[in-house]
Amino acid sequence: MSLLVVGSIAFDTIKTPFGKITNGLGGSATYFSMAAQHLTDVNLVAVVGQDFSEDYIKILNDKNIDTSGLQIAPGKTFRWAGEYGFDLNEAKTINTELNVFQDFIPRLPSEYQSSKFVFLANIDPDIQAQILNQVNSPKLVACDTMNYWIENKPVSLRKVIDMVDIVTINESEARQLTSEYNLVKASRMILSWGPKTLIIKRGEYGILMFSNNSVFSAPAYPLEKLYDPTGAGDSFAGGLMGFLSNTGKTDEAAIRKGIIMGSVMASFCVEEFTPKRLIYLNPQEIKLRFQEFKNLTSFEDLTEII
Ligand code: AMP
Repeated sequence: MSLLVVGSIAFDTIKTPFGKITNGLGGSATYFSMAAQHLTDVNLVAVVGQDFSEDYIKILNDKNIDTSGLQIAPGKTFRWAGEYGFDLNEAKTINTELNVFQDFIPRLPSEYQSSKFVFLANIDPDIQAQILNQVNSPKLVACDTMNYWIENKPVSLRKVIDMVDIVTINESEARQLTSEYNLVKASRMILSWGPKTLIIKRGEYGILMFSNNSVFSAPAYPLEKLYDPTGAGDSFAGGLMGFLSNTGKTDEAAIRKGIIMGSVMASFCVEEFTPKRLIYLNPQEIKLRFQEFKNLTSFEDLTEII
């Protein structure tokens, strides 16, 4: 099955303790698509400005990412500047330039309207809702967001959260969204707004998944090579949704497996600046790291002592 994503395509300027990059290819939809294309066909809806080079569109198309929903609008592409200290879990936004996002009226190509798996990646929640409203009876819809939209569009964001099956969000954003420090209480609150599943991303501490009757936890892969956490959350979502779209399944067992595939993709993403690592990743590397994740959390039942 194919997977529809709407989100940002950006030029990112990023500084981490291990290096910096100016106007590199980024954006939530870019990282998401680059991870998901290893698992399923991806249909992309986004907007860029006239400064966006054809070479970048070719990079997407070379990976079979369908860009017929990509609009090229007059003006400049969205730009984000961020910085990380040694605590790589927390991005500090230095600058956000919405540019072509501001007047973007998203139109869903007719061949995308029957999409069964939909991801509303981090972008203006009004745009997320406008896209979702154009899809006929999807099987599974997930969304992400970030502090910028929690602060600037709280009402629209709550409406989107009410419309989706799965919310993926950072730990600090879950607290900000609910004004609740305790993540268990915060998750109960978000679940009470509508979604069936909440996935909290905790950076190097991994993932916590909550539904109304279960909790699941997955570690992050302990990496020696870690340069830039930008896009890890989007790559996680790409692995998760790519897996679900590939299998066509939406039950909890599939979501748990998808969470590990998401964690695999995030672990590769952070190994280099920009989505580069996801571009030259091969299926053997994905399989091997999935197995390494399994080994990381494998232990035997307690039988002899108690
Ligand atoms: P993350 O997976 O959370 O690290 O996402 C990082 C990506 O989000 C970067 O490549 C940015 O271009 C993009 N981004 C940053 N701020 C925003 C925003 N307000 N709306 C949409 N995308 C954004």
